Amino acid sequence: MIRLLYFSHAMPGLSDDQVRNILQSSRKNNPVIGVTGVLIYGGDMFMQVLEGPEQAVLRLYVKLLDDRRHSNSQIVQMSYAKERMFQNWSMGVIKTNPLKFEHIKKLLDHRLEAVHAEVFAETMREFVKQLNAEH
Ligand code: FAD
Repeated sequence: MIRLLYFSHAMPGLSDDQVRNILQSSRKNNPVIGVTGVLIYGGDMFMQVLEGPEQAVLRLYVKLLDDRRHSNSQIVQMSYAKERMFQNWSMGVIKTNPLKFEHIKKLLDHRLEAVHAEVFAETMREFVKQLNAEH
């Protein structure tokens, strides 16, 4: 199983309906391919964690690259994972305040090789805690 985290820029003027469509597609398609994760939308950016079988996650990510509702996708972290971090929920959109992205965005400055797996896991744990506290 792998876990992939990416950021992308939302298409300018993206409507609530368009975001809802993305969510609907995710909810419909991801369980079928065994992918869980979280999709965060806020501050004109998307952040998505996809976790599941390697082929399924990679195929989905490649498909997402062609979606015009976002652009400039950047993988922040991709690693093998023994357990799901988001097993209890498939996809949710949180229109979070841009500031809340900040501590995650720091990971962007140290993309891929420079982000130590433990730093990533700790950052994500904190983030999940924060998300759960909001719901
Ligand atoms: P449907 O779900 O049947 O499509 C529903 C409707 O969405 C269509 O009628 C159309 O109006 C609209 N639509 C579909 N594709 C596009 C497109 N490329 N551009 C504009 N409008 C479109 N899909 C997933 O399955 N899982 C994910 O986790 C996921 N995450 C995403 C994250 C982001 C940030 C974005 C931008 C998109 C994401 N998508 C995800 C959507 C994905 O890119 C495809 O649009 C979707 O998988 C198509 O699903 P479908 O063929 O079942 O179409």
